[in-house]
Amino acid sequence: MRGLILVGLHCMNKLVFCLIPGLDLRKISPDQTPYIAELLSSQPWATVKTLPSPEHLSTIVTGMKPHRHQIWQTRLREISGRSLSQCVVDTLPDFMTTTAQAVIHQLLGCCDVPTIPPRRRRAFDFRRLKFRGRANTRDLLEQLNGVKSIVDVVGKDRCRYRFSDRASDAPRLVAEACEEEGVDLEFVQFHALDMLGHWQIDSPEEFRRYYGMVDGFVRELHRKCEAKRFGLVLMTDHGQERVSTSVDLGRLIRRLDIPRSEFAYYLQPVMARFWFHSERAGMAISQMLSEVKQGIAMSYEEMHCLGVEFTGPEFGELYFIAEPGCLFFPHDFHHPLVNFVFGMKDWQQRNRLWNPRHIAYHGYLPQHECEKGFMAVLDDRYEPDSTVISLVDIAPSLLGLLGREPPDWMDGTSRFAKRQPM
Ligand SMILES: [Zn+2]
Repeated sequence: MRGLILVGLHCMNKLVFCLIPGLDLRKISPDQTPYIAELLSSQPWATVKTLPSPEHLSTIVTGMKPHRHQIWQTRLREISGRSLSQCVVDTLPDFMTTTAQAVIHQLLGCCDVPTIPPRRRRAFDFRRLKFRGRANTRDLLEQLNGVKSIVDVVGKDRCRYRFSDRASDAPRLVAEACEEEGVDLEFVQFHALDMLGHWQIDSPEEFRRYYGMVDGFVRELHRKCEAKRFGLVLMTDHGQERVSTSVDLGRLIRRLDIPRSEFAYYLQPVMARFWFHSERAGMAISQMLSEVKQGIAMSYEEMHCLGVEFTGPEFGELYFIAEPGCLFFPHDFHHPLVNFVFGMKDWQQRNRLWNPRHIAYHGYLPQHECEKGFMAVLDDRYEPDSTVISLVDIAPSLLGLLGREPPDWMDGTSRFAKRQPM
């Protein structure tokens, strides 16, 4: 093990950063999560202003805004004509082609978002950071595909990332995060609560059970970190909103009867994106969206005020974002085969076997309560410089705690500093 890091957290052997997506600030209470509630009443923390997206990891690890790291689901490609085989494939029913793609995806792991038919899918260049099951630093770097991140700053051999979306992995994550190896930054993403929130947590008893499980996980992690003099930072980047209604945007689009060549769309559960290749398509779709009361349409320029600052329409020309509690269904990730496979494979998603719609979701506009995150530095000698920080501040803040200067290419700043003596 390398020497103590004396410039960062006081005499700290290493810093453990624990991200728990889906841990809803509104659900943290002395009754349901006594340990986390106590930590938040005694340790320095700030709420985290997020982005309208279900995926924040790319922004957290890079410290850059989406238009800079460019990992923002999908980018429209320039395509000129179709090959003969593509023309043949396009005559087949969507259900047949997407089922074939889903099987290929299961067997070979390639073919991202296989649930989108090939005729639409080939128009997209997918730029996503998405893990299932378990993942590690190598998987993170592979999906970042050359985009700079905190791993590059700390050093690939001094920074470790671990991901698991399985509740049963909690003890393993705690044990591995607290191993004494030559690592300065240990990034642990415990994703089980998010998975359970999407598919399972419905009743007060389930909230109590699963939030209690996460509370126990944090308690164990904190105790072990204290025993080994590891610094610990706790974070969640969103909660979940119960889904009460859904809108079939795909059907509304088909009803307009606009030629497919005149527009493209990408349908996430709470955000739809459109690109227009004709004025007619733009007008018809905008008019249709204005009549859907459960969402709000925003141009890519209007998204700038939310921190999504693309200067062109490549990642979406017009966005349509659902109101909290609303889901666009069916969406581009829905397929009966996928529901069957994940419902059978993972007990946390078992409900997918009979209900293909998520029961709760997130990624709505950041001002909504379900989208509030927090970052807590479990060392009361520190304090944030504001009660609200941004997602892009997370990586610079971790670097600050490690006693390192954030690089110029990060958009955020280090927000936690040692308290000045009175
Ligand atoms: Zn989620």
